[in-house]
Amino acid sequence: MTKKKFETNAIRTQNERSSFLEHSTPLYLTSSFVFEDAEDMRASFAEEKERNIYSRYSNPNSSEFIEKVCQMEGAEAGFAFASGMAAVYSTFAALLNSGDHIVSSASVFGSTLSLYNNFFPKWNIETSLFKVTDSMESIERLIQPNSKILYVESPTNPGVDVLDLEALGKLAKKHQLLLIVDNCFASPYLQQPIAFGADLVIHSATKLMDGQGRVLGGITVGSADLIDKVYRFARITGPALSPFNAWVLSKSLETLAVRVDRHCENALALAKHLEAHPEVEMVKYPFLKSHPMYEVAKKQMKAGGAVVAFEVKGGLESGKRFFNAIQMLSLSANLGDSRSIVTHPASTTHSKLTPEQLQDAGISEGMIRISVGLEHIDDIIADIDQALEKANA
Ligand SMILES: *Cc1c(COP(=O)(O)O)cnc(C)c1O
Repeated sequence: MTKKKFETNAIRTQNERSSFLEHSTPLYLTSSFVFEDAEDMRASFAEEKERNIYSRYSNPNSSEFIEKVCQMEGAEAGFAFASGMAAVYSTFAALLNSGDHIVSSASVFGSTLSLYNNFFPKWNIETSLFKVTDSMESIERLIQPNSKILYVESPTNPGVDVLDLEALGKLAKKHQLLLIVDNCFASPYLQQPIAFGADLVIHSATKLMDGQGRVLGGITVGSADLIDKVYRFARITGPALSPFNAWVLSKSLETLAVRVDRHCENALALAKHLEAHPEVEMVKYPFLKSHPMYEVAKKQMKAGGAVVAFEVKGGLESGKRFFNAIQMLSLSANLGDSRSIVTHPASTTHSKLTPEQLQDAGISEGMIRISVGLEHIDDIIADIDQALEKANA
């Protein structure tokens, strides 16, 4: 059979039907699975056969979700986690030893930064951070003999900066580092980092994958041998995704392409509108020609994503007034939801960073982040426009 397209795989990849011949995949709410006899159980535990034993190790709903994401990302294998952070932490923990070193973008999710700063040093794991604007040469200078992982997000949160994945892939290969990409902001529909040299790809499935702000989830995919290491760690430590959440997420992936298409269409329209707005200082969106990495974004992404960052004229105080004037959009910490969400990173998600760390992470004090949802674009723009009018009134 010919290789099917992304949308078709997302819908037609499905667990084997049960004897009831259900059309939609059932929910396998079971903590354990039964064995035929003593020999079956022995062989299963000895891993002589591939089968479900216990839902901390694997579960049919998680497996279906993993299989879909592997197809989307072009990966051999994966493991699904209870949250994006469980995926991030477990992936690092499975691959690093005491004394190892990480080279990472400074523009990563706040909790990932907190792992570097507050937890990994306890196990003698140090991190060197680079800015998204740093050259490949200066990133290369951070690499040490004990460096093991090169870690990035692109586009970044919340500054929507873009990193050149192909160049990073080459750098990682040259120095035998594992390139790990948190691909959450793009979703597997817009960008497949493995094609550019990533060894592992991580997602918070909580965001565009769920897309409706319901469940937490995470996933790591990549080569079978690396995922085996992640699996060995995870099956012992227990960060597995719940079957219910896996079922929700697998269903959500059926609509990922159509949802993300509309997110991107709305986000680009909003970005263009803001760029022409007299009350707006600057706008950042990967598919705006004014984005400093527009060409790279075009090369590695299918469209620009759901998130637009911008600065209201007048700095912090105007930003706050804008925020308080919002009527329809949600003031919430999530993103990639069908509902548009507005956040002010400097006073919320990234408030623990020092002014210098904020700058390194590409966040200005007045920066507003909009996760553009699936409401009608006219209504999204109307709410933002009326709030902008009040920001400097
Ligand atoms: C939300 C997010 C995470 C963490 O995911 P959770 O599901 O909230 O644990 C990691 N990376 C990025 C880029 C995110 O946006």
